[in-house]
Amino acid sequence: MKIKLPISSTARYVVSTLQEAGFEAYIVGGAIRDLLLERPPKDFDIGCSATPEEVRQVFGRRNARIIGKRFRLTHVTWKGELFEVSTFRKAPVEAGHNERTLANEEELPENLIVSDNSWGTAVEDAWRRDFTVNALFYDPVREELYDHTGMGLEDIKSKTVRAIGEPALRFEEDPVRMLRALKLVGQFDFTLDSKTENALFASLELLKHASSSRLALELEKIFGSSYADRHLRAFHDYGLLEYFLPELYKAWGTPPMERALALLYERNCRLDEGRYRNSVSLAMACTALPFVEELLNVAPGEPIPAKKSGSAINQVLEKIFLPQHMMIRLTLSAERVLAQQVIFDKGQCPRELYTSRSYPNSRELKIIRTAVDGGDPEKTDREWPLPQTAKSKEDHRPGKKPRRRKNRKPKQEQSDIQQ
Ligand code: ATP
Ligand code: MG
Repeated sequence: MKIKLPISSTARYVVSTLQEAGFEAYIVGGAIRDLLLERPPKDFDIGCSATPEEVRQVFGRRNARIIGKRFRLTHVTWKGELFEVSTFRKAPVEAGHNERTLANEEELPENLIVSDNSWGTAVEDAWRRDFTVNALFYDPVREELYDHTGMGLEDIKSKTVRAIGEPALRFEEDPVRMLRALKLVGQFDFTLDSKTENALFASLELLKHASSSRLALELEKIFGSSYADRHLRAFHDYGLLEYFLPELYKAWGTPPMERALALLYERNCRLDEGRYRNSVSLAMACTALPFVEELLNVAPGEPIPAKKSGSAINQVLEKIFLPQHMMIRLTLSAERVLAQQVIFDKGQCPRELYTSRSYPNSRELKIIRTAVDGGDPEKTDREWPLPQTAKSKEDHRPGKKPRRRKNRKPKQEQSDIQQ
């Protein structure tokens, strides 16, 4: 189908360079889905017939780096933008029975994929993708859209998440797909088609077989988006939260959990409004704060005391995010942001505080808390010194007070994420 989609000129350049070198190449996956939904894509993934080594030859060693083991692909950097360039694959039919000898075979589901590196054609590549809405290919040079499964465009229109192939098998092959399905529900208000939904309900327990590093990556993406609260709600509604973040599942419906969702929502609004930068550890701190308050017997809105706060913060973060999922560097960063709330609540602003690296995030959390607790966030914003570093100054945009939209659309996401 002929269609003109607003693709970044750099992404178009990467695709056309591959085509001129004699390969087939398209923009694939989430970017096309987002553009058809009239949302700005956060990045452009590229699918092509070139192998990772060939991609590296085309762009040179300095611009192209091969990464991954289970799923090998090439990171191409061009004009400061990063592109994930993957080679067309076919469905791993013999889901690696031979390749699984190193793993503990008895405990793994029979069809779990442990390697996905068999090259294929563009059509085969579309069919091995997770959902029809994620399997659209776009050639930005010819301005041609390809819907190889024949259902992607329709499913975008009706906002339906439909697994490609047999849903139960697709979830068994890779349980992370369940999480990905529900992210579409949380982010875009999609609904699952009935077969996909039934298979998901029947497969939830398989999530414990998913690799913890992949779950960590997904979790980082979730907290690095402005939809974290909506994603958590979708995970809860479909029963996945119990297997993904069991502590939050246990707390669901309690006042601290409601407060965590409110803090996350406020953080997400401020992110979408461009009032503060994207920070995964800030989102983690928002989620953890009410549970720290609970442990310390502090009512919401009351100052956090210094006494015992360090161990309470530690305990809560570990319970919610570690050891299974969250990256240690992010947890440590969230820990510092929470610990600094004690100093804010004392009303002091020692030099060590506002010159510390965590200060911008800590200050932002203080503003978010003030807003959620019914105070005057603008006053808090004025009272506390602006972050000192050039980076933080640039991130913080005082005086800008855009109106809050009801149906928020993403403004910035992954590409902007910082600790
Ligand atoms: P976003 O990047 O906005 O979170 P996305 O769909 O682009 O969403 P990526 O992780 O960037 O997610 O993956 C790019 C594409 O790769 C997907 O759109 C999908 O076609 C395919 N894909 C990703 N993960 C899987 C998976 N587990 N199984 C099958 N296909 C997948
Ligand atoms: Mg993507």
